[in-house]
This record gives sequence, C-alpha cells and structure tokens, in this order.
Amino acid sequence: MFSELKPLPTDPILGLMAAYKQDNNPQKIDLGVGVYKDEQGNTPVLRAVKKAEAFRLENETTKSYIGLAGNLDFCQKIESLLLGEHSALLANRVRTAQAPGGTGALRVAAEFIKRCNTNATVWVTTPTWANHISLFEAAGLTVKEYPYYDYENKGLLFDEMINALKQVPKGDVVLLHACCHNPSGMDLNQQQWQTVAELAKEQGFTPLIDIAYQGFGTSLEADAQGLRAVADQVDEMIICSSCSKNFGLYRERVGACSIIAKDSNVADVSNSVMLSVVRSIYSMPPAHGADIVNTILSSTELTQMWHDELDEMRGRINGLRTLIKESLAAKGVDQDFSFIDRQHGMFSFLGINKEQIDRLRNEYAIYIVGSSRVNVAGVSKDNIDYFADAVASVIK
Ligand code: PMP
Repeated sequence: MFSELKPLPTDPILGLMAAYKQDNNPQKIDLGVGVYKDEQGNTPVLRAVKKAEAFRLENETTKSYIGLAGNLDFCQKIESLLLGEHSALLANRVRTAQAPGGTGALRVAAEFIKRCNTNATVWVTTPTWANHISLFEAAGLTVKEYPYYDYENKGLLFDEMINALKQVPKGDVVLLHACCHNPSGMDLNQQQWQTVAELAKEQGFTPLIDIAYQGFGTSLEADAQGLRAVADQVDEMIICSSCSKNFGLYRERVGACSIIAKDSNVADVSNSVMLSVVRSIYSMPPAHGADIVNTILSSTELTQMWHDELDEMRGRINGLRTLIKESLAAKGVDQDFSFIDRQHGMFSFLGINKEQIDRLRNEYAIYIVGSSRVNVAGVSKDNIDYFADAVASVIK
C-alpha cells in the first residue's frame, strides 16, 4: 500500500531552514522561519517560563491523565487574557478546551465546524498563513478566500473585503487574524473591526478569530480589542489562541479553542461536541506547557516578569521595523519602505520579486520565503547594515 504513494514537496519554509543551516557564509541571515529571535539570533526560553518550570518540577504530584479539556485553570486564564473584562460578562457563554498549540486549536475548530455544518465554507484572507488552507481542507471543509492585503499600496483592501463578506451567508465561517496578520503584518484598525463585527451580526456568519501573536503587536490588551468588538456583537464565534509566540513555548504545544455560544445551554452542547472532537483526534492535550502558562498567570510576580519580557520582545520587533525603514532610506533606495513601520508583528512582505529574492539568497546568504515575507525579528543591529546594502543592491 505504501508503494502507491507519491512524494510530496517539503514545506517551503522548512526547506529554507535546512538550506540556511547548511550555508557556510558567516554573514548569513535567516528571515524565513516564524519564530522570535533576540539580538543574538537566539529564541530563548523566557525567564518567567524557567521559573515556572522549576516550580513545577518541585510541586508536580502526578502524571495521570488530565481530561479532555486539559487544565481547566489554564482555560479560564486564557479566557481572561482573550476577553479581558468581557470574560466575566460572557462567562456562561464561553467554553474553552486547551489544545496542542494554535494549530491543534484550529484543527479542533475545523472538526467542530464540520459537525455543525458539513457544507460550511471557511473564508480566509488573501493571503493567509498557508497552513490555514491545508488544515481546513484536511477536515473536509471548503476553503474560499476574501480580499485582504493590498500588495500594490501595502495596505488593506478593506472595501473589497467588506463587499466580499457581504456575500457570506449564515452557516459559513469567516476566519480573521486578531492581530499581527501572518504573512502581511497588516491589521484592521478598531473602526474596521467594528464594521466587521456589525457585518457578522447582520449576515449571521460565524467569525473564527485566530490569535497567535497577542502582545506582539501593540499590547496584550490592544491586540485583543478587535476580537472583543466581535464578541460584543455576535451570538456565536470561535477563538483559536496560541501561547507559542507570546510565551515562547513553541515546542511545548500550548493553545486553546474557545467557543462562544448564544446562551449557556447551547454552550454546554457545543462543549460536549468540541470535547468529542478532541477525544477522536488526540484524546487529551499535553500538560507541561499549559501548566507553565497557568503557573505564570497565577503569580503576580511571574505575570509581571512575563509582561516585561513580552514588552521587550515587542519593543525589539517594533524598533527593528523603524530601523529597517530608516536603513533602507539611508541607502538611497527609491522605493518607499515606510509601510514596514506601519505594520505589526513579526512579518511583512518586502514586496520584491522572485529574482531579487533568489539574488538575496545566492549572493548574500539572506534567506526569505518566496512570497517575500520577512521575519523582522531575524534582523539585528549587527546585520542591519549588511541587510540594507543587500536589499538596496538587488532592487536597484
Ligand atoms: N495561526 C497563525 C496565523 C500562525 O502564524 C501560527 C504559527 N505560525 C499559528 C496559528 C499556530 O501556531 P502554533 O501551532 O505553533 O501554536
């Protein structure tokens, strides 16, 4: 049976990572893979995480099964992080299951949607994180795209987006990136969120908010304002969150799927379906990472430490955005790169063509994915000059 299989291409980002590893150029720069990096190019374990892990090592009493929804204290803390003061108001309508990363949460959401409506279409932004499409299709759902990023003007195609969403019926799902849009870095402003929220209510489609970078854009609170505006309007929605980036827990696989239903009864029924989905995919989520998050959020001291570290990561990213804009301008580049400074999170499209991307890689050992998406955090004060010179030379 296995001999019938045809080989599939490697994920382009993973392929790029492998090529980068093998490159001997001492000046090489990896702007491909989507992980935060510090000034030294490392993705460190946060100090708050180390402390929480030490505490856990001392105090953990059992490795017995934890339950389908994982750590319930963690789930409740995630609801507060996502919904802020709205979490108390919505408490009887929200049900959360801890999941293996944001990806696991999205897969649970996909299977849940399939159980609600086998014919549902999931509408995603053009472009979106590539895995969104594979993930929903793998669950047997139809995926369609709505206009989002304006490649020409490096902004949003907001009118086109709204016109497209006006055609989306009840029973379909619209996926929105809460903040730090991957791959474009282009986010909705609060007024635009409000328009989308009202439209969701009017049309009756179900919003699915993917929040994988809370705290990486403007602040923990500001990055959740959009999803809170939606939660204020609609009867039902799904939120898939990830602690990979903001807690630096990538490989521990920590995330959550939260369902908001129109009342407590529907929420209970939805929860039973969500947990049955969980049981049939992975039975229970892994405990370690969620316990770390719960330990941090249960301690004022560790929460403060985490806030400080998150501020540091965000400050570095935003500082680099300004630095990239200014360094390219200083090299006399004609093209306007000020959009990089207006966008949020780790990613932006440089907006250069395939040949220029290849030249960056072949002549300068600067690794960028084929769409020209760069991970801003891969730049540092040490390599910015080299990077700006290289970009200036390939776009001249
Ligand atoms: N959603 C988006 C938009 C992402 O960029 C990512 C990570 N690249 C995820 C979800 C999932 O993250 P993870 O599974 O690593 O928590």
